[in-house]
Formats: sequence, C-alpha cells, structure tokens
Amino acid sequence: MDNKRIIIAIDGHSSCGKSTFAKAIAARLGYIFIDTGAMYRAVTHYALEHGAINMGIVDEERVEAMLQSIEISFRFNPERGASDIYVNGDLVEGKIRTIEVSNCVSAVSSIAAVRSKLVAMQQQMGRYGGVVMDGRDIGTVVFPNAELKIYMTADPMVRAERRFKELTAKGDSVTLQEVYDNVVSRDKADMSRAISPLRKADDAIVLDNSAMSVEEQMAWFDEQYRRVVEA
Ligand code: C5P
Repeated sequence: MDNKRIIIAIDGHSSCGKSTFAKAIAARLGYIFIDTGAMYRAVTHYALEHGAINMGIVDEERVEAMLQSIEISFRFNPERGASDIYVNGDLVEGKIRTIEVSNCVSAVSSIAAVRSKLVAMQQQMGRYGGVVMDGRDIGTVVFPNAELKIYMTADPMVRAERRFKELTAKGDSVTLQEVYDNVVSRDKADMSRAISPLRKADDAIVLDNSAMSVEEQMAWFDEQYRRVVEA
C-alpha cells in the first residue's frame, strides 16, 4: 500500500473492540498503535492506589494535585505486539482493566486537568503521523485533522458479552449484569460529560461490528484506507 503515513483516529463506545481493531490495523500498516483509554485507566489506577478515590467517589482536587507526580510511558512488548503502559516506571498494563478501574475511569476522565495533560501527550506521540489512536475524542479534539476517522459501535449486550468473556478468562469474578451495567453507564457518562464528550466527528465513518468478524472488519478497513490514500 501507499507509503503516505497518515493519522487514523478510532473513537466509539466502550468495549466494542476498538483496541483490537486499532492494533490489527497498526500491525498491518507498520504504524504505532496508541490506546488512549489505557492512559485514563492508568491515572485512575494510580488515584485508587493513592487514596484519591474512596468508595467509588473521586476526589477531583486530589486527582488534579496528583497529576504532577504521574509520569506515563509506553514500552513496546513484542509478545503482545503492542506497547505496555507504565506509571512512574512501574508496569501497570495488567492492572488497569479491572471492573474497579472501569467503574471509576469515566469520573476521572471528566476532570479538565486530566484531559489536558493526556491530550497534550497524545498530540506529541502522534505528531509525525503513522499512528492509529483509539479513544473517545481522537477525531474531535486530539487530531481533528486526522485523515481517516472511524466511529465504532456495537449492540451493548454484544459488547458486554465480549468483555465478560475476556474478564472471566483472566480469572476476574464478575457477572454479565455487572459488565453490562458498566458498559451502559460508561457510554452515558462519556457522551454526556461537559469536556470533550464522546461524539461522532462529522467526517467520521461509522463501523457497527455487532455481527462482524475481525476479518470482515479488516476487509472493511482496507477499503476505507485505500479510498483515503488514493484520494
Ligand atoms: O477505551 P477504554 O474503554 O479503555 O477507555 C476507558 C475510559 O477512558 C472511557 O470510558 C473514557 O471515560 C475514558 N477515555 C476518554 N477519552 C479517551 C479514551 C478514554 O475519556 N480518548
């Protein structure tokens, strides 16, 4: 394919396979894959560990004050074919996808200071192009000029079932109902927050993968990508 190295922005609802899709695209094109949700999760995990979230209530001032002590970095892990996330040099990749973090991350990600710190980092990481970045505000705020914007969605129960399988395979004891409630409440929180709410950019193309295999999604992507680089 073409050697023009573009920015591919993938936004959409919780647990609809954005990261799996983004990672596969990046591998295909030799691009860098950046999971911005992992960055919001890493801050949330740190806040939980350092007492800024109690009984599910986020102390926004403490999280904001904590931000200067949080240094996020990524290191490529060849076994996963993607980068692992570190906070202050500690590997947290395996700790950020718990239901506890999932239940608090939307509240943490609605704090203005958290968003401005992470958005600035994301803009730095993607400044030379050749990136696939997935999140909630990539096509609207982080890279409004991205050449290819995809807005992903799927039926909420299909999403909950997929996430439930992942969590139980890891040994987490959760119920399908808990996962479904989390998926639906995060969608609602992410779409209704005041700063950078999740919304489809006007120039994004919708991909509803409720009934699509990964192969079908990749074939769909190839068509979209070709259309952009050949334009
Ligand atoms: O993508 P993932 O589900 O891991 O994201 C976790 C949470 O991080 C989302 O529910 C959302 O609250 C927040 N997020 C965000 N902006 C992004 C990526 C994630 O607000 N660009």
